[in-house]
Amino acid sequence: MHDSDITPRPTVATIDLDALEHNFSVLKSFVTPAKVMAVIKANAYGHGLVACGRQLERCGADCLGVAFLEEGAALRKAGVKIPILVLGGIFEGQIPHFFAFDLDITASSLDKLGAINAAAAHAGKRAKVHLKIDTGMNRIGVRAESAYSLVEASIKAAHCDVVGIFSHLANADEEPLDDARRQVAAFKKVLSEVREMIPDAVAHIANSAATLRIEESRFDMVRPGVVLFGNEPSPGLRLPIELRQVMKLESHVVYFKVIPKGAGVSYGHSWRAKKQTRIVTIPLGYGDGYTRHYSNKTFVLIRGKRHPVVGNVCMDQLMVDIGEAQAHNGDEVVLIGSQGQEKITASEIAELSATVPHEVTTAINQRVPRRYLRGGKVLLESEV
Ligand SMILES: *Cc1c(COP(=O)(O)O)cnc(C)c1O
Repeated sequence: MHDSDITPRPTVATIDLDALEHNFSVLKSFVTPAKVMAVIKANAYGHGLVACGRQLERCGADCLGVAFLEEGAALRKAGVKIPILVLGGIFEGQIPHFFAFDLDITASSLDKLGAINAAAAHAGKRAKVHLKIDTGMNRIGVRAESAYSLVEASIKAAHCDVVGIFSHLANADEEPLDDARRQVAAFKKVLSEVREMIPDAVAHIANSAATLRIEESRFDMVRPGVVLFGNEPSPGLRLPIELRQVMKLESHVVYFKVIPKGAGVSYGHSWRAKKQTRIVTIPLGYGDGYTRHYSNKTFVLIRGKRHPVVGNVCMDQLMVDIGEAQAHNGDEVVLIGSQGQEKITASEIAELSATVPHEVTTAINQRVPRRYLRGGKVLLESEV
């Protein structure tokens, strides 16, 4: 990641692959006999696409789900062998690459199915398609009323094998679950009409929240993402399984100063000291994906205690008010994860900044090096 002859700033995201395995295993036993497609789009929610893909394959994931062709291709180039479904919408020019990388393809309309079939014929290949039915998300997929025509067309498509049929839930992480249950019922109705036409197709609709909260949503396979990384689908959501947070984001104190009562901190002076206080600076900011929305809202851990982020988060630095506490240059700072008895979860940060835990970890970008832990050993991505 860095030239070996320089010493980078000590900011790193540590990815605990044993925790990932733990989360996968408890989820897998919870849903058995349903299969599990582990969803690892967007750099595995910030945790490292290839490292997490390899680990999940090793743990026994039935298949992987990604958003885009390029994510699936990267996994294949890294040697991942299990089936991979690209969940997102496709562009016609991409289709031949699905065959080249042996990726399952989402057919979300009659037109797209036609283009897939034509491209497969042209390439002399068989396309593996999952038919996408929209039961209420209103994103991609044919409406439930049109499902029958799509299935009918798919069995006539001579160069396509229909390996799956799926839908996606809009409201599985909220109370009440009425909307999600309505979508599950709509999907079930579609299946009752078409199942015999596509006997080999695996039916799936459940994201993390539905997998754990709506038993009848599991069908043949579930598609969890966020819970694999140890985070709740929405802040505070009660879950029936014990998860371990996979990402730990840490840095170190780079500066210490005492400021007088009334002094403003950072751009815009959005925070002022109510009394004389101690401020430490951490070399990490929104340029790393610790977003400006967290300004004056989130906390960090130093010497096992929680302290507030004060003033606006800068591109490369942020400031923390430690009050009367001690801190020295070089002290470890935990932004996500545990230190001593204290813990900060992605879920807590999400709640404080009005987003979802998925976004908190996914935002941590490539400027922050990832370090992987497995069986007590520290590994680079290439060694996982
Ligand atoms: C992202 C995604 C998932 C996983 O969602 P989580 O809430 O992270 O479990 C499942 N299916 C589709 C189609 C998705 O886009």
